[in-house]
Amino acid sequence: MSDNPLEAAAAELTARVGDRAAAWDVDGLLPEDLLRALGARGLLCAEVPAEYGGLGASSLHSGRFTAHAGSLCSSLRSVMTSQGMAAWTIQRFGDRAQRAAYLGRLTSGDLAAVAFSEPAAGSDLSSVATTVRADGDDVVVNGEKVWITAAAYADLIVVVGELDGLGTAVVVPSTAEGVTIERVPHPSGCRAAGHSTVRLRDVRLPRSAVLGGGGVELSMLITTALAYGRISVAWGCVGILRACLAAAGAHAANRHQGGVALADRQLVARHLADLYADEQAATRVCEHASRAWDGRSPEMVVATVLAKYVSSTAAARGSGAAVQVLASAAAQDGHVVARAHRDAKLMELIEGSNEICQLILAGHTRVLVNTGD
Ligand SMILES: Cc1cc2nc3c(=O)[nH]c(=O)nc-3n(C[C@H](O)[C@H](O)[C@H](O)COP(=O)(O)OP(=O)(O)OC[C@H]3O[C@@H](n4cnc5c(N)ncnc54)[C@H](O)[C@@H]3O)c2cc1C
Repeated sequence: MSDNPLEAAAAELTARVGDRAAAWDVDGLLPEDLLRALGARGLLCAEVPAEYGGLGASSLHSGRFTAHAGSLCSSLRSVMTSQGMAAWTIQRFGDRAQRAAYLGRLTSGDLAAVAFSEPAAGSDLSSVATTVRADGDDVVVNGEKVWITAAAYADLIVVVGELDGLGTAVVVPSTAEGVTIERVPHPSGCRAAGHSTVRLRDVRLPRSAVLGGGGVELSMLITTALAYGRISVAWGCVGILRACLAAAGAHAANRHQGGVALADRQLVARHLADLYADEQAATRVCEHASRAWDGRSPEMVVATVLAKYVSSTAAARGSGAAVQVLASAAAQDGHVVARAHRDAKLMELIEGSNEICQLILAGHTRVLVNTGD
């Protein structure tokens, strides 16, 4: 019997999603009632501690659940990643009252997004230009955020900006005056994840909306939040690989060409072997990162970058191989493998692109050489 308390929830998620993910992808829309029902059970941010209404799951258990969600629907998993990243940012940078108030909402059905990226600040988040200006008992937020996952569904958006020359995260209600949210039209992947441009124009909020009162190093704020996002995306990619392996394996076993099952053609079997190897390698590297996270190991940050890099490249490669095995059978929007292929490519771009992850890992190798480890 498994020790993962989220296993029953995973089975329930399978039943709730059913065969609807294809239609969600084609329509570019997730059912909000499902998101809110999952959120109200704490399942969109399962690691929130019990004292704040959460399930208090370990990173390992939460990761396995995230992989399961990713195998069903990457758009749904993306919303889960955003909710978890918002919760983690609030947990790390909020004071006690903010943790109680906001985390209570995120485990009761409210939905959240996290907004770093701007038109001129993609990989280089030190260029964030959003301002949070103190004005009496209030703060006033101005800026534009792009490609914000889940913003189309969110009640709260954790907006990263600058206050007095330092980094700050402010919790902005999506209904606040001066906030406009506009969906990205026709995204190429994770099409139902609600990616949006968020414009903030003289948005006036009480100072209590600024997590911890503000004033942290921007790089520390971003690294902390992204660490959660990276490990979550990495587990999501494990799910993509599992969905591809199942679909490609079944297709290759059942389809015959020239009187022979595709799986018995060695060049096709090679694709299946590589997919399996990718799925296994991605799983192991995610488990390593989650164990480092759960043990609060000093290796944690590098382990999350490694997991994200290995899993997303494996998912992009593996989903391409799955398309090759299914050929025309996967060449249609909504098909699990077609979705996987489009979704996985985007996972190589976000939460630190492949190149940014490579730079971080290369920097780490220099540390290893210098310390002789
Ligand atoms: C599906 C999706 C979901 C997203 N969700 C969110 C979200 O929820 N919140 C949020 O804030 N943002 C989100 N983003 C934005 C995402 O974080 C950025 O797209 C990402 O950081 C890359 O920035 P960019 O697209 O501006 O590319 P650029 O930074 O312009 O990079 C373009 C290319 O140049 C490379 N490059 C850039 N700088 C360097 C360098 N120094 N060295 C080597 N190569 C470099 C990059 O790796 C990339 O290949 C999302 C984006 C997508 C596509």
